[in-house]
Amino acid sequence: MIMLVVMKPHASRAEVLAVRERLLSMGFSVKEVPVDGRVTISASGDTGRLDPEEFASLGGVEQTIPISKPFRLVGREFRKENTEIIVDGEVVGGKELAIIAGPCSVESWEQVLQTAEAVKEAGAKFLRGGAYKPRTSPYAFQGLKAEGLALLREVKRVTGLKIVTEVKDVQTLNSVAEVADMIQIGARNMSNYSLLEAAGDLRTPVLLKRGISATIEELLMSAEYLLARGNQNVVLCERGIRTFEPYTRNTLDLNAIPVVKKLSHLPIIVDPSHGIGVWDGVASMALAGVAAGADGLLIEVHHDPSKALSDGHQSLKPERFKELMEKIRMVAAAVDRTVGESVNAQ
Ligand code: PEP
Ligand code: MN
Repeated sequence: MIMLVVMKPHASRAEVLAVRERLLSMGFSVKEVPVDGRVTISASGDTGRLDPEEFASLGGVEQTIPISKPFRLVGREFRKENTEIIVDGEVVGGKELAIIAGPCSVESWEQVLQTAEAVKEAGAKFLRGGAYKPRTSPYAFQGLKAEGLALLREVKRVTGLKIVTEVKDVQTLNSVAEVADMIQIGARNMSNYSLLEAAGDLRTPVLLKRGISATIEELLMSAEYLLARGNQNVVLCERGIRTFEPYTRNTLDLNAIPVVKKLSHLPIIVDPSHGIGVWDGVASMALAGVAAGADGLLIEVHHDPSKALSDGHQSLKPERFKELMEKIRMVAAAVDRTVGESVNAQ
């Protein structure tokens, strides 16, 4: 069992050390984690022997929280209320759904600008687009890399959309973080613990996608890596898991939405594009995701899907995305959520 001892915001180092010493002397192993500017000490061992009252009376202690799950900071036991993540001024996990739309890969200035303007006009506040692409085949388009990041930086300047882009490895993390308002850690990297640790040392929000065959608990434990390093700004993403079903690319596990909502205070969004993998199924699954209680959607949109260098078969044309947004508005209203206003293009 685990006991979290949350110190007061201005607890002195001596007070923190006194709590640590007390726990160590009782035979617990301790780990210190910074959470929102305060020290949280997690003690593992036979916490049945630990008297929370005794710790509450030690100097600098705010509260003690018993934890029964393997995830500590990610779970509802640690934080009961929903966490809202601020992404360059936009909120993810509030009443308004976070709509993140754009191409699978950044391919050219014309492509990224056209798609960005279209998704903005339809009401999206975030632009997605990969510059570093993890591809199944080494011969497939690997992304424009640094040039792609430069295009994203420029398209943000022109449109004001917040940028969500994937980081593939530790080496490029800092350059991705300079441009990204939210760094995407993709399904293939959900269990890349060195990458999670490095992203956990930043404070840039992270969009953490569920691994291709990861359980919900494994997803939450990967999020725990980020929080345990001090990065509390994590948005989870259900993007489908691999099952025996060959008609769709993945099986979108919408069960994960209510399950994660119960277990964790972190926001969770749905990616219907990778979830089903065929464009004509994306709208149904997007609407189902909103109805299931997702905090937002990640949708692939391309101005000319037949020419896309990756995932064209599951990308929506801008006009279809616009139609979908109108339906999302209606389903959102039914579950007491809102969607950003559509804006007229100049
Ligand atoms: C993507 O978002 O384009 C992507 C590669 O997603 P995933 O990691 O879910 O496969
Ligand atoms: Mn894709």
